[in-house]
Amino acid sequence: MACSAHLVRGERIICTGCLLTIARTDFHSRRGNTLEQAFWGRCLIERAAAFSIYNRGSRIKTLIHELKYKGRKEIGTMLGDLYGGILSDSGFMEGIDMIVPVPLHPARQRERGYNQSDCIASGISAAAQLPVRDDIIKRLVKGGSQTQHGRYARWENVKGLFIVSKPEAITGMHLLLVDDVVTTGSTMEACVNALHEAGDVKVSIVALAAAQKLTL
Ligand SMILES: [Zn+2]
Repeated sequence: MACSAHLVRGERIICTGCLLTIARTDFHSRRGNTLEQAFWGRCLIERAAAFSIYNRGSRIKTLIHELKYKGRKEIGTMLGDLYGGILSDSGFMEGIDMIVPVPLHPARQRERGYNQSDCIASGISAAAQLPVRDDIIKRLVKGGSQTQHGRYARWENVKGLFIVSKPEAITGMHLLLVDDVVTTGSTMEACVNALHEAGDVKVSIVALAAAQKLTL
């Protein structure tokens, strides 16, 4: 799915060569990593990690594109399962009670037929043996493209974008927010802040990939 090579016996979805080629981070085993630092002063998180780094031409970018726009849900489940195992083995999942995918705008989800974050979350859930709830957070208005705007404009764009529809279901919990890509961090920031406003929770975040410029 990443390089169009034929798979051999024992391989599924992504060939061994590509799996080895994907640039992985060690964020899961490093507290205060550069992804966590990207959120300092913006929202309160316990831990942050991303499976890979996202930049032009990277294998992970191809895979995420297939996952989001070509209906290849199994890429999300497979990489989520792979990363969920890594997160569990490293102790990153310790204390986490529930996995919460970042919601898509309802209209976009209807159009696409699924939310790619749900696919990733279900893979992580299977590996980490933790429940997923996709009914905790709702997304209200459609955000435009965030990459052209300055930081304040991006924040304005996502402020109030999420509401917590089931605050009673998360009180006292440590939640793991899951998204496909962290590009500017604005979406995650808005989601984390909405969760904190709704109740007494701890929040950690993971994504399949984080933009390189965010984590330098
Ligand atoms: Zn390949």
